[in-house]
Amino acid sequence: MAHPGSIKPRGPSAALPPGGEPRSSTAIVITADRALVPAADAPAGHDRARGPTALLAIDGAIVRVGDPDAVLGDPQAAGARRLDWARRAMVPGTVNTHNHSFQSLLRGIGDDLPFLAWRDQALYRYSPRLGPDEMATAALFAFGEMLLHGVTTVCDFYYLNSQGNDNATATIEAARRLGIRIVLARCFYDWSGAPAAYRETVPQAVAHFEALARRYQDRARFLTTIQPAPHSQHGATPAMIEAGAGCARDAGVPWHIHLAEEQYQVDQSLERFAARPLHAIAALPVDLAQMIAVHGCWFDAGERALLAERGGSLAYCPGSNMFLGDGVTDLVDLVARGVAVGLGTDGGCSNNRVSVFDEMRTAALLQKVHRTDGQAIDAGTCFALGTRTAGAVLRLPIGRIAPGYRCDLVALDLDDPSLWPVQALEKNVVYSLSPRAVSDVVVDGQEVVTARQLCHVALDEIQARVGELTHDWRRA
Ligand SMILES: [Zn+2]
Repeated sequence: MAHPGSIKPRGPSAALPPGGEPRSSTAIVITADRALVPAADAPAGHDRARGPTALLAIDGAIVRVGDPDAVLGDPQAAGARRLDWARRAMVPGTVNTHNHSFQSLLRGIGDDLPFLAWRDQALYRYSPRLGPDEMATAALFAFGEMLLHGVTTVCDFYYLNSQGNDNATATIEAARRLGIRIVLARCFYDWSGAPAAYRETVPQAVAHFEALARRYQDRARFLTTIQPAPHSQHGATPAMIEAGAGCARDAGVPWHIHLAEEQYQVDQSLERFAARPLHAIAALPVDLAQMIAVHGCWFDAGERALLAERGGSLAYCPGSNMFLGDGVTDLVDLVARGVAVGLGTDGGCSNNRVSVFDEMRTAALLQKVHRTDGQAIDAGTCFALGTRTAGAVLRLPIGRIAPGYRCDLVALDLDDPSLWPVQALEKNVVYSLSPRAVSDVVVDGQEVVTARQLCHVALDEIQARVGELTHDWRRA
């Protein structure tokens, strides 16, 4: 479908080059009134608030963080571009470990339905209509809204491939235009009950994954990363799951799979494989240490122990799990066992928000009420799940304001009442933050949101494209 207008660069810097060629060497110094940075004396290495802070980044990597005088006096900072975040707090950019960007287009279409009705009446009804141009619209919408909420990295679990890479390519290019960091988790899907646009043979899926990775895998700046994603036990046969995990092993990247989201999926796994979901996966010749399980709402104690023992990780989507009535993942137990967990928003029609800050709060509240214990989990842990450990789950050097990490940052407006009083900033960011307070966003040392506006794509252009595409979509 055609869309009105073209995407115009906006703001002080031009759009990223379409091919995403490495930009020239750049040094930038950003100063802020406060910052959330790693604290040696904080429990579990959690981030803590500190006063005036400066950061020096070169070529998109953080090289120094500390008192402004010391950082500005560093010889490497001579001639650096300066960004002044006065009256703002500098916090790590948030990391969304699980999303389906096209689902933002379906927001409001399938709400308040049981999962299977939602799937059939919203997902399967509209998703097969989407080609590359519609996918680009969806991605600009989903990722643009995420940037405005302080998401600097998104993992798009991508299953609408139409036996090729044109849709995924359009999605990656949309991410590049906006300047958001993307992990394209390319799906491996062969369940015959799904729309044809989802399905491939094993050789097709492997060939398409490898082609996409050859074109886009960025091992220097990690702005685009390609990872395989066998859909689930119901969406992928054991041969397909094995093929996806094999591609991950060969590429040295993790692989993603939806597991135990709804209770019926446990019953199906017991019926088909005579084993609960994680045990059935573990029986395949796959490396669980490279696996990112998505959801895990119905993992029992044995599965949680196995996940910890094998070094697997989890993408946890509490907002989506609540929205769809899936169940409650035992996050507290998984964290206690040392499983790396990252937060995800899931798709824009199963949450329906796209903010990882919001997931931090949701995760905390859900676990507290589930255990009827206000101390079940704390703000520092939930903040880490949306930043540092989410980056570790995706195997990317992101999620911390520390040397060696990519320079992905969010500025929060300290004049916003949702952050008052400011003495407990690390608590307020999780529990009381309003998205209104997100004022600026930097990805890989480049400004992508300034003064609450996207820098590279005009929001009214995205609005026009979304309106044009969805104006005649209706609830069933
Ligand atoms: Zn999902």
